[in-house]
Amino acid sequence: MKPAKVLIIEDNFQNRYLFKLLLAKGGMEVIEAEDGRSGIAMAAEMDPDLILLDIQLPDIDGYQVARELRGRRRFDGLPIIAVTSYAMAGDREKSLAAGCTGYIEKPINPTAFMEQIRGFLNGDAAGS
Ligand code: MN
Repeated sequence: MKPAKVLIIEDNFQNRYLFKLLLAKGGMEVIEAEDGRSGIAMAAEMDPDLILLDIQLPDIDGYQVARELRGRRRFDGLPIIAVTSYAMAGDREKSLAAGCTGYIEKPINPTAFMEQIRGFLNGDAAGS
């Protein structure tokens, strides 16, 4: 089976590094974008199996990215997982309202992280 391709849209280098490390260790192919616009372009170009989406990005925010992707038919079934801050409770609801499939909270729990990603790839519901 082909490895799952995950697009990370995240401007923070350390977070991107950690996600990449965990995903690669879990056998997944990783592609990266550092802002919302290039993330949308990369999604169109690379056709990922899942998107890990930071909310605070330097250009448009993650909600806008999710809304724009959800406006395109070809991304209908694509899991878009928001990376929200545990401290920002409102982000969770807002990300789901923007069209995200679910969310993972920062700080990341490395052991739970891959299980969550695999769950979302298998079609699990939001907020698990
Ligand atoms: Mn950020």
